[in-house]
Amino acid sequence: MKVKCLIIGSGPAGYTAAIYASRANLSPVLIEGPQLGGQLTTTTEVENFPGYPDGIDPFTMMDDMRRQAERFGTQFVSGIVTKVDFSVSPKKVIVEDEQEYEADAVIIATGASAKYLGLESERTYRGRGVSACATCDGFFYRKKTVAVVGGGDTACEEANYLAGLCEKVYLIVRKPYLRASEIMQQRVLNNPKIEVLFEHNTLQLTGEGKVQGADLIYRKGEADEAIRHIAIDGFFLAIGHHPNTELFKDYIARDAEGFILVEGNSTRTNVPGVFAAGDCADPYYRQAVVAAGSGAKAAIEADKYIKSL
Ligand code: NDP
Repeated sequence: MKVKCLIIGSGPAGYTAAIYASRANLSPVLIEGPQLGGQLTTTTEVENFPGYPDGIDPFTMMDDMRRQAERFGTQFVSGIVTKVDFSVSPKKVIVEDEQEYEADAVIIATGASAKYLGLESERTYRGRGVSACATCDGFFYRKKTVAVVGGGDTACEEANYLAGLCEKVYLIVRKPYLRASEIMQQRVLNNPKIEVLFEHNTLQLTGEGKVQGADLIYRKGEADEAIRHIAIDGFFLAIGHHPNTELFKDYIARDAEGFILVEGNSTRTNVPGVFAAGDCADPYYRQAVVAAGSGAKAAIEADKYIKSL
């Protein structure tokens, strides 16, 4: 099937690109990918997206965006992109190894995935005390006790942010030192609300229907190895994110961590006619509203590109 504009991803970037592209008469096709609605749907409530003064549950918000794109003619395809060929024009995109699309312009909006520890209890309590975004979910833990896992800048930043809201914050660090920049380390170490648990790893989360505690192991395998239980209401992962960009690596320039490189302030990649929007190209902000903004930019740029053909 030949299309003018093909969008890969159904998060805020993908849906916003679809709204703009369909209103520009590009009749876009949007491939939804493995997680309909994107990363946002792993959170419980969205309170920082403008336009929802009372907050909104992420499924409703993403469904609203989807319906808005549908209203202007976006066609949705459920499935995962399994292969692309960006060496040809029009570009080839293959869904589920069988449906082949040819597109004048492609907008990559595949997002990023937070890294998790891989514990079974993490999955059990996801959205019920387990979060990978303090900015999104911290507010629900006001005056409560939470733990943050990680020793990098993100973990320190999140611990500090949460300390502004919560009664107490544990920072669980697997090494005997923090990896974060000196200034972030000092902020954490000087914050009386933060207790840093060096050389601790999480064994499991516990609780009745929601997170109420965590079992930790101190200096595993050493003579002074010890198990410790902490009572917590929230468990925040801050051990990094993977951009979902592996599929494009043979064609699209990426940085060392896999984030797609774009030209200046644009969404243009190194391949003319291929644009990147949202978290797959954003190692810094990782916010729905920023992703939505870049989706709009990508659609405007794709429209200009198509008109220039
Ligand atoms: P980093 O990769 O810097 O840090 C990840 C942290 O998570 C490390 O402490 C690592 O431990 C720990 N970790 C990884 N896997 C596990 C695991 N399985 N169990 C327990 N701990 C684990 O990621 P960040 O997201 O913190 O930062 C990414 C980049 O963004 C960095 O370059 C950072 O400097 C930058 N950044 C800058 C900010 C700023 O300047 N304001 C804010 C946020 C990020 P270990 O040290 O043992 O490997």
